[in-house]
Order: sequence, then C-alpha cells, then structure tokens
Amino acid sequence: EGQATAATVVRGLRAVADLLRDEEEELGRLDAIAGDGDHGRGMTRGSSAAVEAAEAAAARGVGPAAVLVAAGDAWAAKAGGTSGVLWGAALRSFGDLLPDDRPALPGDLAAGASAALASVQRLGRAELGDKTLVDAMVPFVETLRREVDGGASGPEAWARAAEEATKAAKGTADLRPRTGRARPLAERSVGTPDPGATSLALVLTRIGEVLAG
Ligand code: ADP
Ligand code: MG
Ligand code: MG
Repeated sequence: EGQATAATVVRGLRAVADLLRDEEEELGRLDAIAGDGDHGRGMTRGSSAAVEAAEAAAARGVGPAAVLVAAGDAWAAKAGGTSGVLWGAALRSFGDLLPDDRPALPGDLAAGASAALASVQRLGRAELGDKTLVDAMVPFVETLRREVDGGASGPEAWARAAEEATKAAKGTADLRPRTGRARPLAERSVGTPDPGATSLALVLTRIGEVLAG
C-alpha cells in the first residue's frame, strides 16, 4: 500500500512534466516580457528531472514521502533559476510531511502545502503582492486548509484551492514586481501575469485532476 501511494506521486509528477512541456513556450513568453525568458525551460528541466528521480526512488521501494523528497532534490539541482530552487524546496518540504506508513489524509495535504509555502517564503522572502508565485500559493494554502477543516475530501479541497490559485495568478497581471529578475522592468510587466504564479496554478490544477482520478 506504501507502493500504491508512491506510484500516485510518480503518476502526478509525470502528469506535471507533460503539462509543463506543453506550456513551455507560453511560460517562456510570459517570462520574457519583464524577466529573462527562461521560466518555461527551467520548469520543463526541473519537472523531467523530478520524474526520473521519483521513478528511481519508487523502484527502490520507498514510500511516497521519500519519493517526493528525491523529486524535489532533483528539481532544484536541474531546473536552474530562482523558481527551480523554490520548487525543489517546496516539494521536499511537502514530502517531509507525508506519512510513509499509511495513506495520506486530507489534513496531511493541507499540512504539506503549508510547509511548502513556509520554505518558499523562508528562502525567497517574497510577501503577498510582490508579484511572485507566492501570490498564487498563499490563497491555495489558505483555501486548502479551510476546505479540509470544513470536511471536504482531499481531491475536492485541492480542486477548490487550485481554482483560487488560478484566479490569484490571473490577478497578478495588475501588480508590479517588487522582487526577482523582473523588478528592474517592473512597469513592462503590468498587464501580464507573473510567470511563476501562472505555472504554479497550472500545476496545482493538474495535480487536482490526478487526485480526482
Ligand atoms: P529566474 O527569475 O531566476 O530566471 P524563473 O524564470 O524560472 O527564474 O522563475 C521566475 C519566477 O520565479 C517569477 O515569475 C516568480 O514567480 C518567481 N520568483 C522570483 N523570485 C521569487 C522570490 N523571491 N520568491 C518567490 N518567487 C519568486
Ligand atoms: Mg526567468
Ligand atoms: Mg533565469
């Protein structure tokens, strides 16, 4: 049964890597408006390295937590860029909170997401409104926690939280970047959503679909 959930993590990561390959060009275009244009490439590199590491870990027979930790380490090592470091840390922190001896409960998902956000903010120091992926991640984490506390199933709670992340990512179009590489060209980015918030919302939505089965 530890095997089944490790397999779920691998399946989720494969779905994410496929999605990011499809979105690579568009994410690069968004990042080129005020940043350096490499966000699509970085996300593809990171997620495909994460899939390879996850498959290798699952083949060794470890549980879902260890699979996700291995995936996070590979993502951080191979993606390059600010977002790669943050994604790697987020996956690793999420993995640290997953149980390896029983199936994950909705509360584990909420705790994992909170821990992931805490790592991202500890490393990147971005606050809400700085026009980064934090702007999509905060509403995701808050909605997930509220839905889980209200008794929603894991997949339901995740899907609702991903909807909020998607709205928030779109809303970053109105903001000016206050941190990261896009800051010097801040004005140019007004009217365009933040690439990192956009990719995060896409990934969270896809994971919601995988959880729903
Ligand atoms: P780089 O900016 O190093 O080229 P990417 O292009 O892959 O890295 O990622 C850019 C995204 O990273 C931004 O759109 C933003 O969402 C996110 N980002 C940048 N700096 C931070 C930060 N300090 N905290 C959180 N997210 C950040
Ligand atoms: Mg970039
Ligand atoms: Mg870069």
